[in-house]
Amino acid sequence: MTEHELTRRRLLELGVAIVAGAEVLRAVEDADAAPLLAATPTIADADDPTPALTEGPYFKPRSPLRRSIVPGGGAGTGLTLSGRVLTTAGRPVAHALLDFWQADGRGVYDNGGYRFRGHQFTDAKGHYRLLTVVPGLYPGRTRHIHVKVQPPHRSVLTTQLFFPGIARNRSDGIFTPECLVHGWRTVRGRRVARFDFVLDI
Ligand code: FE
Repeated sequence: MTEHELTRRRLLELGVAIVAGAEVLRAVEDADAAPLLAATPTIADADDPTPALTEGPYFKPRSPLRRSIVPGGGAGTGLTLSGRVLTTAGRPVAHALLDFWQADGRGVYDNGGYRFRGHQFTDAKGHYRLLTVVPGLYPGRTRHIHVKVQPPHRSVLTTQLFFPGIARNRSDGIFTPECLVHGWRTVRGRRVARFDFVLDI
């Protein structure tokens, strides 16, 4: 074998080795990709639209425009609920209407007036913030806040929000874990929670 032939053969071998190496690399990449593909449904779940839930008997139209729905002297544990209104693609919905209504801290609705009722609009980045109290319990229901969410020129989503760790969640016929608030904690004596509404748009 001449030196030239040797070199040529070495190059061929090397070429085979490179191709084999590339195959190995592809296999490794496929193996790496597999868990990512498996994780996709989890991501899709996070983008699932917020489910609609029954309006119940106590909605009143024409609530006042305000972020705080606590009336003067309204007793209860203060609650700040904030979050965003998003599309299923994760885009913020600016100027979406949010109309909240709930029972007071003792579990009583104001059906004559507008205590613990109010509407507001999301800002340019889809954010809202509600100042209220933790709603009280009333017969047959767990603690909940009612809300109607309406993006500009689109249909209304009517739903309810719930709180974690409430024993009555288990027996409430309307409760769904998809509508549990997140980040439920106490900060300087106030309850704080987050909820992002995902609209099917
Ligand atoms: Fe209710």
